[in-house]
Amino acid sequence: MEKKLTRDNVFYAFSPDLEPALSVQQGETFTLETHDCFTGQLKSEKDLLDVLDWDRVNPATGPVFIEGVQPGDVVRVDILKLDVINQATMVTVPHEGVLGDMITEMETAVLKYAGDHVIFRDKISIPMAPMIGVIGVAPAQGKIPNGEPAAHGGNMDCTLISEGVSVYFTASVPGALFGCGDFHAVMGDGEIVICGAESPGEVRLRAQVVPALKGLPTPFIETPEKFAAVASASSLDQAGTDATHNMAAFLTQFASLSINDAGLLMSLVGDLKVCQVVDPQKTARFEFPKWVLKEYGYAISALK
Ligand code: CA
Ligand code: ZN
Repeated sequence: MEKKLTRDNVFYAFSPDLEPALSVQQGETFTLETHDCFTGQLKSEKDLLDVLDWDRVNPATGPVFIEGVQPGDVVRVDILKLDVINQATMVTVPHEGVLGDMITEMETAVLKYAGDHVIFRDKISIPMAPMIGVIGVAPAQGKIPNGEPAAHGGNMDCTLISEGVSVYFTASVPGALFGCGDFHAVMGDGEIVICGAESPGEVRLRAQVVPALKGLPTPFIETPEKFAAVASASSLDQAGTDATHNMAAFLTQFASLSINDAGLLMSLVGDLKVCQVVDPQKTARFEFPKWVLKEYGYAISALK
């Protein structure tokens, strides 16, 4: 039977000291159930954020030990199936998020699901676009709370991370110690009030080392149409600069473009976008279309 971790197997900080909750072979599919970012503590609109036990926010399910992975390996994690369940929760919090200076009332909003739509205020029907907010591997040392994004992944809140997409991480410890959680039924780029449609869910995954990409700046995303380099830093300016440099490094070191071709093409058909601006570390991504690399003879199929 396929391996599965229930949503009771959570951790709140990525760390090399975590005990693996599950071991998988490379290429083996497995399923993780996840809580929402509040660990299910907000059950109705009466449960305001001030009742929250802050030691239990942003749980990630795992960690998953991937057999044979060594520090320095680039690991590709394929998101084969992604589902959100039950309902979604959102909060407004005075003094938090980009509008914290304008928002004066704390509120919990519950968004019901109707088929593949999320219903806002019984009025607006929004197409679902499920995505993973927190996803990553253990850092080499220390403890990175799941609310923070960094080079190991973590709380990137990147809307590209969805079903049918692969995310690349660099392992810092044997087995990588992978985990994810914080699914959103839908979220806009920026995540401006500090949350998306926060939802519990379930994800089916597969992970394996990609030797040809050793040295790739990660986190890195591959969708059917594009690649994206993701970076987090204390300012959005820096995160944007880092994501742009990381994409240029991929194009020059792995796809054999000259830096001038890479730069000109990134300026023509690449997109620098915002993931989130509400954590102490902001996250940006640089997207580049695959079809251009095909013209350069880059063997994209080698990645799959
Ligand atoms: Ca998040
Ligand atoms: Zn979230």
